[in-house]
Amino acid sequence: MKTAFLTHSDYNLHLTPLGHPEQVDRINVINNCLSKPEFDDLHRVTSPMGTYEQVTLCHPRDYIEYIKSSCPINGSIALDGDTYVSFESFNSAMRAVGSICEAVDLVLNDKVQNAFCASRPPGHHAEHSKPMGFCLFGTIAIAAKYAMKIHGLSRVAIVDFDVHHGNGTQDLVWNDPNIMFVSSQQMPLWPGTGEPSETGKFNNIINYPLNIKANGQKLINAYEDNIFPQLAKFKPDMLFISAGFDAHVNDPLANLEFTTGDFEKITRMLCEFADNHCKGRVVSTLEGGYDLPSLAECVAAHVKVLMEHAKWAK
Ligand SMILES: [Zn+2]
Repeated sequence: MKTAFLTHSDYNLHLTPLGHPEQVDRINVINNCLSKPEFDDLHRVTSPMGTYEQVTLCHPRDYIEYIKSSCPINGSIALDGDTYVSFESFNSAMRAVGSICEAVDLVLNDKVQNAFCASRPPGHHAEHSKPMGFCLFGTIAIAAKYAMKIHGLSRVAIVDFDVHHGNGTQDLVWNDPNIMFVSSQQMPLWPGTGEPSETGKFNNIINYPLNIKANGQKLINAYEDNIFPQLAKFKPDMLFISAGFDAHVNDPLANLEFTTGDFEKITRMLCEFADNHCKGRVVSTLEGGYDLPSLAECVAAHVKVLMEHAKWAK
């Protein structure tokens, strides 16, 4: 089977101020990299627009309207210290939701084995009624709930290896016994949450803080020794990945020392887990990653592993 790659040129219409790390070129460098012949086998999909029905799986309608009405006609404005919207930001965030839900449909309808969505803005910091950290809607939590509500899955797992804590995803799945959320993050670092004591109402959340200068092997060991046994016990039907690549040693926003090879290994072990426990079903979406050359290299490595696993699947 194949790997789906979902993106849309309209993500470039979500504008942030000059010098903002979450910039238009993030999607451009990914597209340039994935246009090489080695990625010819990707099943390429133009991200569809999301719907209110999808977004309201996680956010109240008045919050959606607040985001929509906040988008200015000209330039961009700040909703908080670092989260900006421009005229097309609402549509971009809606499309990011539509894209990941389409990825879920493709995987669960057996059209592809797994999928990667290159979308902007990212989503894992957006809380129930609060935009945060460049994020407007909780894209991956919406997709997890969509997979259960629309496709009837019993349990799903979300793994977030972005260097920042997925506080938004945690907020949106806190009360859901059928979603396991695993987040690894540098601590101390913005947004300051993500202590191991934050376990969710049903012990459905695993937080794994990493010290400054931690390397990728530290996280790989944690998965092998501690996290995978807990995930296996949870028995998810599908694995979601919040794929942020800002734990890379070159990233300007954090201080971890992951290499591109570490992201490749982490992706491989997640795909192997999915092969053994979730029928190989993986949907991954872009979160952070702000050093453009490293971002492109890491996404290429990540997608290549997804493609290898899709190829081997029956
Ligand atoms: Zn991040």
